[in-house]
Amino acid sequence: MPRFVTHLESAIDGTQLEADRPQTLHKDRPLWVRYDLEAIGRVVTREQLASRATSLWRYRELLPYAESVDVVSLGETMTPLVYCPTLGDRFGLANLWVKDESRLPTGSFKSRGLAMAVTMAREFGLKRLAIPTAGNAGGALAAYAARAGMEAFVFMPDDTPAINQLECRLAGAKTFLVPGLITDCGKIVRDGKEHLGWFDVSTLKEPYRIEGKKTMGLELAEQMEWRLPDVILYPTGGGTGLIGMWKAFAELAQLGWLEDDKRPRMVAVQSDGCAPIARAFEQGERFAEPFAFPATIASGIRVPAAVGDFMILDAVRESDGRAVAVDESRLREWMALGAGCEGLAICPETAACIGALEALVAEEWIAPDERVVIFNTGAAQKYPEAMQAELPRIADPAWINWERIAQGKST
Ligand SMILES: *Cc1c(COP(=O)(O)O)cnc(C)c1O
Repeated sequence: MPRFVTHLESAIDGTQLEADRPQTLHKDRPLWVRYDLEAIGRVVTREQLASRATSLWRYRELLPYAESVDVVSLGETMTPLVYCPTLGDRFGLANLWVKDESRLPTGSFKSRGLAMAVTMAREFGLKRLAIPTAGNAGGALAAYAARAGMEAFVFMPDDTPAINQLECRLAGAKTFLVPGLITDCGKIVRDGKEHLGWFDVSTLKEPYRIEGKKTMGLELAEQMEWRLPDVILYPTGGGTGLIGMWKAFAELAQLGWLEDDKRPRMVAVQSDGCAPIARAFEQGERFAEPFAFPATIASGIRVPAAVGDFMILDAVRESDGRAVAVDESRLREWMALGAGCEGLAICPETAACIGALEALVAEEWIAPDERVVIFNTGAAQKYPEAMQAELPRIADPAWINWERIAQGKST
């Protein structure tokens, strides 16, 4: 039994469930992991964390596994919080940071959630896992399942970025292309449970991926010396990261570890090619209607229906934040802006956050001196399709026109 977990709690009606066995949804909706925070406060202080290994496991008292458990890890480094003065300048912001999650194993922050989910699955003695994915979650499951010696089944839309298809295959997962959307893949995983007896590690359908992604918020708080930023922009698909960070901040506040009780305004960012959460926010709804014909190159946020929609929208509203959709046709431009200004290989999902930043500063919803953090959730290198460019050529290395070289043109 994990040391500080008291129980699981239904996010939709508060029903309490046992944490000592694998659990999935309750009334088709997700579960929270609850801890005895008072007991945690008695055994560890925030200062003690500083001497621990620089990985997400340093927050072990706030994580769900038992102390005796051998965690499934690929070396999840604490990700750097990179100060971005040049990009900030573009928008007249003095205090802009990018938390660069692309440094994690498998090149995206999906590692955080799946390291935790696979650790817990192994603790429960599960041997066979399955996942529907828009791309990176499949890659992370494949890697962590390989590491844990478990069997993985991955189902992805047939237009998922090629790198994601290949990385799953490379790590030995049984990987399938599905004509349709991630929701169609989700149905196959649901149906397959009965036939193949696998455990479904879909976003929010087991309680531990949130706990893994919660560590983004814990790390951010520690890196900012326990004073949270004013605004967080987060590319939102299934919403695990945004929900997890909001939960992290609440737990830190309850532990008394924050310098003041100011929490960030959380901005859920989507592309207007797939914006169910932004639409529900605008309409004042707590639940989001499925988004018809979702299309975006930011595949990680191509999620037309999220089982935790109300958890995302609750967090956004409690934080005084926003859910916004940006122009799909400008994602490549914003990707190039982030990379060109700061050298950070930002993924198209994060490019959407740069678009949102532009809009929210223009509206004066973000003030010039506010402390703003954008999450770079994945590495641009995983998206060759979104990075397509025609490079200038040197026709004959013996006859080079140096003037044209200076201009970056073919010669
Ligand atoms: C999955 C994913 C997202 C969306 O994350 P959620 O926490 O599920 O909302 C954003 N960016 C990238 C690169 C992703 O892979």
